[in-house]
Amino acid sequence: MTERGKEVQRMKKELPIMDEKQAKSDKDYSIYFQPPSLKDAKKRGKEDISVHYESAIPDDMKAIGVGKRYFIRTYGCQMNEHDTEVMKGMLEDMGFESTEDKLEADMILLNTCAIRENAEDKVFGELGHLKTLKQEKPGLILGVCGCMSQEESVVNRIMKKHAFVDIIFGTHNIHRLPMLLKEAYYSKEMVVEVWSKEGDIIENLPKKREGMKAWVNIMYGCDKFCTYCIVPYTRGKERSRRPQDVLAEIRDLARQGFKEITLLGQNVNAYGKDFTDLAYSFGDLMDDVRKIDIPRIRFTTSHPRDFDDRLIDVLAKRGNLVEHIHLPVQSGSTEVLKRMSRKYSREHYLELVDKIRQAIPDAMLTTDIIVGFPGETEEQFQETLSLVRQVRYDSAYTFSYSPRDGTPAASMDDNVPEDVKKDRLKRLNDLMTQIGREQNELLRGQTVEVLVEGESKTNPDVLSGRTRTNKLVLFQGSKELSGQFVHVTITEPQTWVLKGQLVTAQPAKVV
Ligand code: SF4
Repeated sequence: MTERGKEVQRMKKELPIMDEKQAKSDKDYSIYFQPPSLKDAKKRGKEDISVHYESAIPDDMKAIGVGKRYFIRTYGCQMNEHDTEVMKGMLEDMGFESTEDKLEADMILLNTCAIRENAEDKVFGELGHLKTLKQEKPGLILGVCGCMSQEESVVNRIMKKHAFVDIIFGTHNIHRLPMLLKEAYYSKEMVVEVWSKEGDIIENLPKKREGMKAWVNIMYGCDKFCTYCIVPYTRGKERSRRPQDVLAEIRDLARQGFKEITLLGQNVNAYGKDFTDLAYSFGDLMDDVRKIDIPRIRFTTSHPRDFDDRLIDVLAKRGNLVEHIHLPVQSGSTEVLKRMSRKYSREHYLELVDKIRQAIPDAMLTTDIIVGFPGETEEQFQETLSLVRQVRYDSAYTFSYSPRDGTPAASMDDNVPEDVKKDRLKRLNDLMTQIGREQNELLRGQTVEVLVEGESKTNPDVLSGRTRTNKLVLFQGSKELSGQFVHVTITEPQTWVLKGQLVTAQPAKVV
């Protein structure tokens, strides 16, 4: 076991012998367990990160799931979606089969998100429903994992009030799922294993990918510590995967015929900054990925502070590197950005946008914005609106600020009244709608390359697909075009969707 492995806190070992009649669900497990510490999670140690290539599934676990079904509910971001793919891969390597019906599942996992309070409320709501299912089916294994499990308050709450849960584990040890499952099967107690600090990098974990698009993690964690954000605590310090491992995974996906890859990280622009033995940046990685035969390459999420000229130069080479950049700004006011600890100013952000637009004139920009951050004045909010008008984003994820326990902003005075936050959010959304509509109007009459995803969710007679800039396109065509690239002429641009006509019934050749 590594040094970090010793940080594992196991409630099970601490438990005294209990009266057999004492039902598991009556217990308050929190009295036996030291929960993960956000304070420890904040510390950035100097230990080297090791990379492990051995198999995560022990031989005696390879058939434990035969005849059993699993159901995973995923909340939150693409990072969580990708973690779910890894857990599905491990479960299927142990013989489990997936099901979309909770009622027929032998194991249910909730892969949770901690970014906003309402995401947490949803998970506790779901646990309430699952309690009944667990009572009807005592053999059901119920697990909670993901970012919420990294929070001490959440782990305490589950142990106190939801003792019917069988396993709790965090984001740093999903590779331990087979071992935790084994313990849950052979133990009558709740199995809790949450590491306060990040572990090593585990390669070669099986992944169950579906469809034509794949996510590839290039790094883990975040060291930016924006004051409103819980991620640096729940995901640990920045650790980059070795370039040869990332490139090998992408080459393999190319061999399997995947059409689109999204490189994932909390702050992809910081990729490689933690290497002590080689100088290799995110721009270098993109330059190497560009040479692999995958039609489309995206990345998310980038931080404006680390977005350097090398990366812009590489993106300008285009090819399979698409012209869509998600560049979260959060606020247009330098004062607010300072309180958010974003480490760039309004001017720096706008300069960066100019540089990107000079190098890639048709680059489509999207962003994230928070309104009503502590101390935000009407004037500062107006600076956000003016920045949005200047940049002309095609779309944005917009949020009204709410404090997250354990973050520095949670101890600031949350002094923007709720009705003012609501009003600002509405004004921002109205502006985004207007600009989004105008941006889409520019595409009227243009022919765009579309990757066909399948039937539209709302109309089976219509196909839906995405442009290189990730815009949704609807058009009529044969279902056999699913998974292919086609050309579509935009005839009816709307605010959030582009309607068009197929140029030819044949798949398009992508260069
Ligand atoms: S860059 Fe900031 S907002 Fe993004 S994950 Fe890191 S701390 Fe959170």
